[in-house]
Amino acid sequence: MHFNELNLSQELIQAVDELGFTEMTEIQQQSIPLLLEGKDVIGHSNTGTGKTAAFGIPAVESITEADKKNVAVLILCPTRELAMQAHEEIRKFAKFKRIVKAVSVYGGASMEKQIAELKRGANIVIGTPGRIMDHMRRKTLKLQNLRCVILDEADEMLNMGFREDIESILSEVPEERQTVLFSATMPPAILAITEKYQNDTIHIKIKSSQKTVELIDQYYFEVAMGRKTDALKLLLSAYSPASSMVFCNTKKMVDELTEELVKSGFRASGIHGDMKQSQRTQVMNGFKNRSTEILVATDVAARGIDVSGIDAVFNYDLPQDNEYYIHRIGRTGRAGRTGTAYTLISGRRQFYELRDIERYTKASIQEKPLPQKSEIISLKKENIIKEISEFKNVSHESYEILDKLASMGIDYREAAARIISGKLNAEIESLPEFDMPRSLKKGRKGSAKTVKVDINIGRNKRIAPNFILGALVDATGMSGRDFGKIDIFDTHTTVEVPEAEKEYILDSTNPMKINGNKVEVKLYNGVIPTIRGKRPESSGNPRFDRKKSAYGSRKKSDVYSDYIPNRKKRTKKRH
Ligand code: ADP
Ligand code: MG
Repeated sequence: MHFNELNLSQELIQAVDELGFTEMTEIQQQSIPLLLEGKDVIGHSNTGTGKTAAFGIPAVESITEADKKNVAVLILCPTRELAMQAHEEIRKFAKFKRIVKAVSVYGGASMEKQIAELKRGANIVIGTPGRIMDHMRRKTLKLQNLRCVILDEADEMLNMGFREDIESILSEVPEERQTVLFSATMPPAILAITEKYQNDTIHIKIKSSQKTVELIDQYYFEVAMGRKTDALKLLLSAYSPASSMVFCNTKKMVDELTEELVKSGFRASGIHGDMKQSQRTQVMNGFKNRSTEILVATDVAARGIDVSGIDAVFNYDLPQDNEYYIHRIGRTGRAGRTGTAYTLISGRRQFYELRDIERYTKASIQEKPLPQKSEIISLKKENIIKEISEFKNVSHESYEILDKLASMGIDYREAAARIISGKLNAEIESLPEFDMPRSLKKGRKGSAKTVKVDINIGRNKRIAPNFILGALVDATGMSGRDFGKIDIFDTHTTVEVPEAEKEYILDSTNPMKINGNKVEVKLYNGVIPTIRGKRPESSGNPRFDRKKSAYGSRKKSDVYSDYIPNRKKRTKKRH
């Protein structure tokens, strides 16, 4: 559906046209008509699907002459960058509609300037919840004529702890108003807000939201523990993306990695929430105008940032939440373009976490070996040939130098070789050395053999197989399908596990809690452990007895093995 099929004013049609938008995205098609009618909407679609326009176009369209001195639309965004970005886009929609006056307010910027701008008469205000509250308290933002509140990236605002601010804003604005929420995920807290503050809500969920992810080629690299920085340097050298983002989980890691990359000669800058607003703006501008090639960022700092033409996204740390993976890689391949995402993993746990992400996103993330030094060298050679053959700006002085060298007995060929070596050596010397690690995947496939582990908890603690499996899945990050038969006895339980994983499992399950009981996991040696000298008997209940038991006689995948944990949120830090 084309934008001019909507009943938009000429001013809006022209502005959209100038932006080069022709077809609406799905979320726009479904939400814009409803928003124009004044309906309460909750829109659920992935990052990069054009949500700003979905609410920005109706917002601009709704402003009339009567709103000259009134704030009619309030847009809440989680971060300063997003508020600035939404403001920027709204300004473009309003280009030919002079009566629209959009003002953005956010922390870390001059209060006085914002107050002055608000005083001059704003009818659309965009801002972060904290600063909006601040202006409301100071009565520099008056909302008694507000018609519409829009919460952009509502889930992220809740994640960032803005819930109270949002609730006080929503309860202090006129009750007769339109309330609109956009969110990439729908946690229960969002639905609670919907229930409390929206009326006759229309829920729009864009199913094809995976599309953006499908357009992105996704690969992972196995890297030895502690070698991720070197691996990243190798990849950046090999692929030399003109514009890329690298994601880390902590501010500290962003700082350290940025410093490392800069030291190795990469044009990298870091961005995170602890930086001053002016610094962040400077970094973002450098990245947008391509003087910075690599932006190292935390999830929050990068959320929703819309920079076009990002060639590659690197996950240096695995994201702490599966949904973040989609957000991160959505930075590349925006608005229908293709892109590439690379994830670095170290160790078994991260391997399983990646598989969890793969299941969650329903995407295929393929293993790729780290590029060999020799491959990179031949790439560099080609680059030098290309660079020299395409070089146009030859100066008169260079010939003078060559002639002088020739008079010293260094002929042109030798001189050129020395210059080329200088270039090539510098690039090659900085390349880190890597041994090929043993593939975690191959390691797994190669051995279908299983062994048993023994857990010192049993029927006496009212343990059921799903408790055991749930605890194992949580502790190891493996999937329920990776575990085999579970036999529960009076005081202990045995579980079949892949032989190749036995050490990893023992390592990551000690300690482990099941149903509040601290348990010990050991390799099962076939001897049922005794407690207080007594050999535990079978319960007499055939359901639970070995061999005869209902569990024992089924194949592993029949019963418990398809337990997949409902565990989107992860809290453990990993690098
Ligand atoms: P989201 O908020 O869903 O992550 P954005 O609103 O930031 O997405 O939009 C992503 C990019 O797509 C922006 O650069 C925007 O200008 C562009 N865009 C939005 N709608 C369209 C459209 N209908 N046609 C082409 N490009 C669009
Ligand atoms: Mg957005």
